Amino acid sequence: MKKIMKQDQDVTKQHNKQMILDIIKKQRPISRAEIAKITRMSATSIGRFVSELCEEGLIRETELTSSGVGRKAIMLDIEPGAIYTIGVDMAKKRISFGIMDFSEAIIAQHRMDHKTQDSTPEETAELICNEMEGMLKQTGIPLEKVVGIGIGMPGVINYERGIVQLSTTLEWKDVAFASLIEKRLQIKTVIDNDLKVKILSEYLYGSAKGSNKTALIGIGTGIGSALIINGEVFRGGSNSAGELGHTTLDPNGNLCECGKRGCLQTYIDENSLIMEARRVKDVSDVRQVFAAARNEERWAKEIVSRTALYLGITINNIVCMYNPDTVIVSGDLVENYREIIDLVEEHSDQVIWEPFKGKFRVIPSELKGEAIVMGAGALAMQHFAPLAGTWAEES
Ligand SMILES: [Zn+2]
Repeated sequence: MKKIMKQDQDVTKQHNKQMILDIIKKQRPISRAEIAKITRMSATSIGRFVSELCEEGLIRETELTSSGVGRKAIMLDIEPGAIYTIGVDMAKKRISFGIMDFSEAIIAQHRMDHKTQDSTPEETAELICNEMEGMLKQTGIPLEKVVGIGIGMPGVINYERGIVQLSTTLEWKDVAFASLIEKRLQIKTVIDNDLKVKILSEYLYGSAKGSNKTALIGIGTGIGSALIINGEVFRGGSNSAGELGHTTLDPNGNLCECGKRGCLQTYIDENSLIMEARRVKDVSDVRQVFAAARNEERWAKEIVSRTALYLGITINNIVCMYNPDTVIVSGDLVENYREIIDLVEEHSDQVIWEPFKGKFRVIPSELKGEAIVMGAGALAMQHFAPLAGTWAEES
């Protein structure tokens, strides 16, 4: 009995310490008195937690001269160099890296071309580890200060077990990728679906800041979506919620790579655009289609307009299902060709169900290419930073 009480006390203590650290992180610099006002904890308790956090090197005191009387106040700020995480964005043809400090700023970035299809997962893991070691060496950050690695990748990812269940983009199936990195570097690693990482990033740092119900649609070589509900990424039963590329639009439609007919993906992604264009002209990439559309060539304009129409339909379907206040459209296709978003607006009257008109906003991704690297760094921070998980342990 006594033991249980002691454990309860420890949990409460950790919980309060985490809360204070979170407040300092979010509202820095902040004084002890302001923390007391927010938490309603006693000055003594706050003082104790603050000195513990200072001793652990996670926060520091700074002097702030208040305007007017010129009196100096002691403020608390976090120590950016206390710990680091590394965020990785794995795409079909390139891998991007970012080192994130404790203030959640990306302090170094690196990008390399790499086709995962041309090498084994083991080779790719080795390459990623080498690149990360190189970056750390260059920035002078010791390996021990990196508390975790986060990786965002396309596909169905078993996020809890660190396994890539299926990624048609990377051409991997049942790959225990997180443990390959962990074994090599001895750093804890979390992997997740790229769009789930992206929406976390937009929620924390980008265009969905302050929104409680956000949906994100990603269009590029495939199409998918992700959802934030009350500040949490919605994962579904097996972390696959949002795989809308294979929702059926027409059972008699074009054959999809998954073996079914008429999947949404066959109407809207880059491949489908090229296939559609090839009925008229011999094109090799979407760039040519958009160039022709900008040049007022009718065949190309029709294809681009069709894509926008189906994107509009997709937005309507998502809004009908989840009633979000914000829909972020992202991915290479819309980021490189912003005219699609304007065209979606034009179609919106036709495709959006009346009760939802004017009840949500459609916005482009603010972070674009940075989003997954930042989200992956944040994901690692959420999992592996000191005191992280205190909340979860408690429940
Ligand atoms: Zn399909």
